[in-house]
Amino acid sequence: LRENIQRAEKLQVLSELSASVAHEIRNPMTTARGFMQLMKQEVKDNTKLHFYSSMIIDEIDRAQLIINDFLSFAKPQVEKMEYVEIEPQMKQAVDIMTPYALLKNVDIQMSPFENSPLVYVSKEKFTQCLVNILKNAVESIQTDEGLIQFSASINGDYTDIHIRDNGVGMTTEEVNRLGEPFYSTKEKGTGLGMMVCHRIIQSFQGNVAVSSEKGKGTLITITLPIHQAS
Ligand code: ADP
Ligand code: MG
Repeated sequence: LRENIQRAEKLQVLSELSASVAHEIRNPMTTARGFMQLMKQEVKDNTKLHFYSSMIIDEIDRAQLIINDFLSFAKPQVEKMEYVEIEPQMKQAVDIMTPYALLKNVDIQMSPFENSPLVYVSKEKFTQCLVNILKNAVESIQTDEGLIQFSASINGDYTDIHIRDNGVGMTTEEVNRLGEPFYSTKEKGTGLGMMVCHRIIQSFQGNVAVSSEKGKGTLITITLPIHQAS
């Protein structure tokens, strides 16, 4: 019981903090986006610079989405849920993470998934969750032979999405703390990535399972109910 109260208090503090931080960050980002939009107009004859500007604007938009997630943690809002195939969503997450993975010399292998089933999700949130997990996988790797295997399979009325890395792995204690707000072992970690991810997948009636071995690697499995399009 005491643990539950402590946890509830932590969540309360987190939601207040995240709402105010999100608000403070949103304003300068909106300004930066506005100037970038102007710049994009100015450089429209230069294909490269025009493309770079678009990328910057897209990334600012993505950052805004992440902030929205912290905000919606405080105030659950109505989200746009839709029926989507999982494979394009997985591809999109890989595309977003590829530059970061290259930087760290990590290979992301995605297995083709022919009968990509439909799941009922909010696209942005689903992508964010996949990106959060892929990012952790990339960051867990400290050798030159980093490999992330990204695949999916059908399991009765459910689909399993697997993210396997050959990184540092975790002890049982570390696995148990994963997803706790602000729990991070990284110098520049927020300790919010997995918490947001758990919350997102739960809102899709799904589940996140973690299995890990210290020194060997980690397997994260997201399970989601399969839907029939209607
Ligand atoms: P952050 O990445 O900001 O630290 P997360 O919530 O994403 O926050 O992860 C919390 C902690 O869980 C990480 O700091 C790390 O110690 C551990 N962790 C998460 N994913 C992995 C992984 N794939 N391999 C090893 N450790 C991991
Ligand atoms: Mg993380």
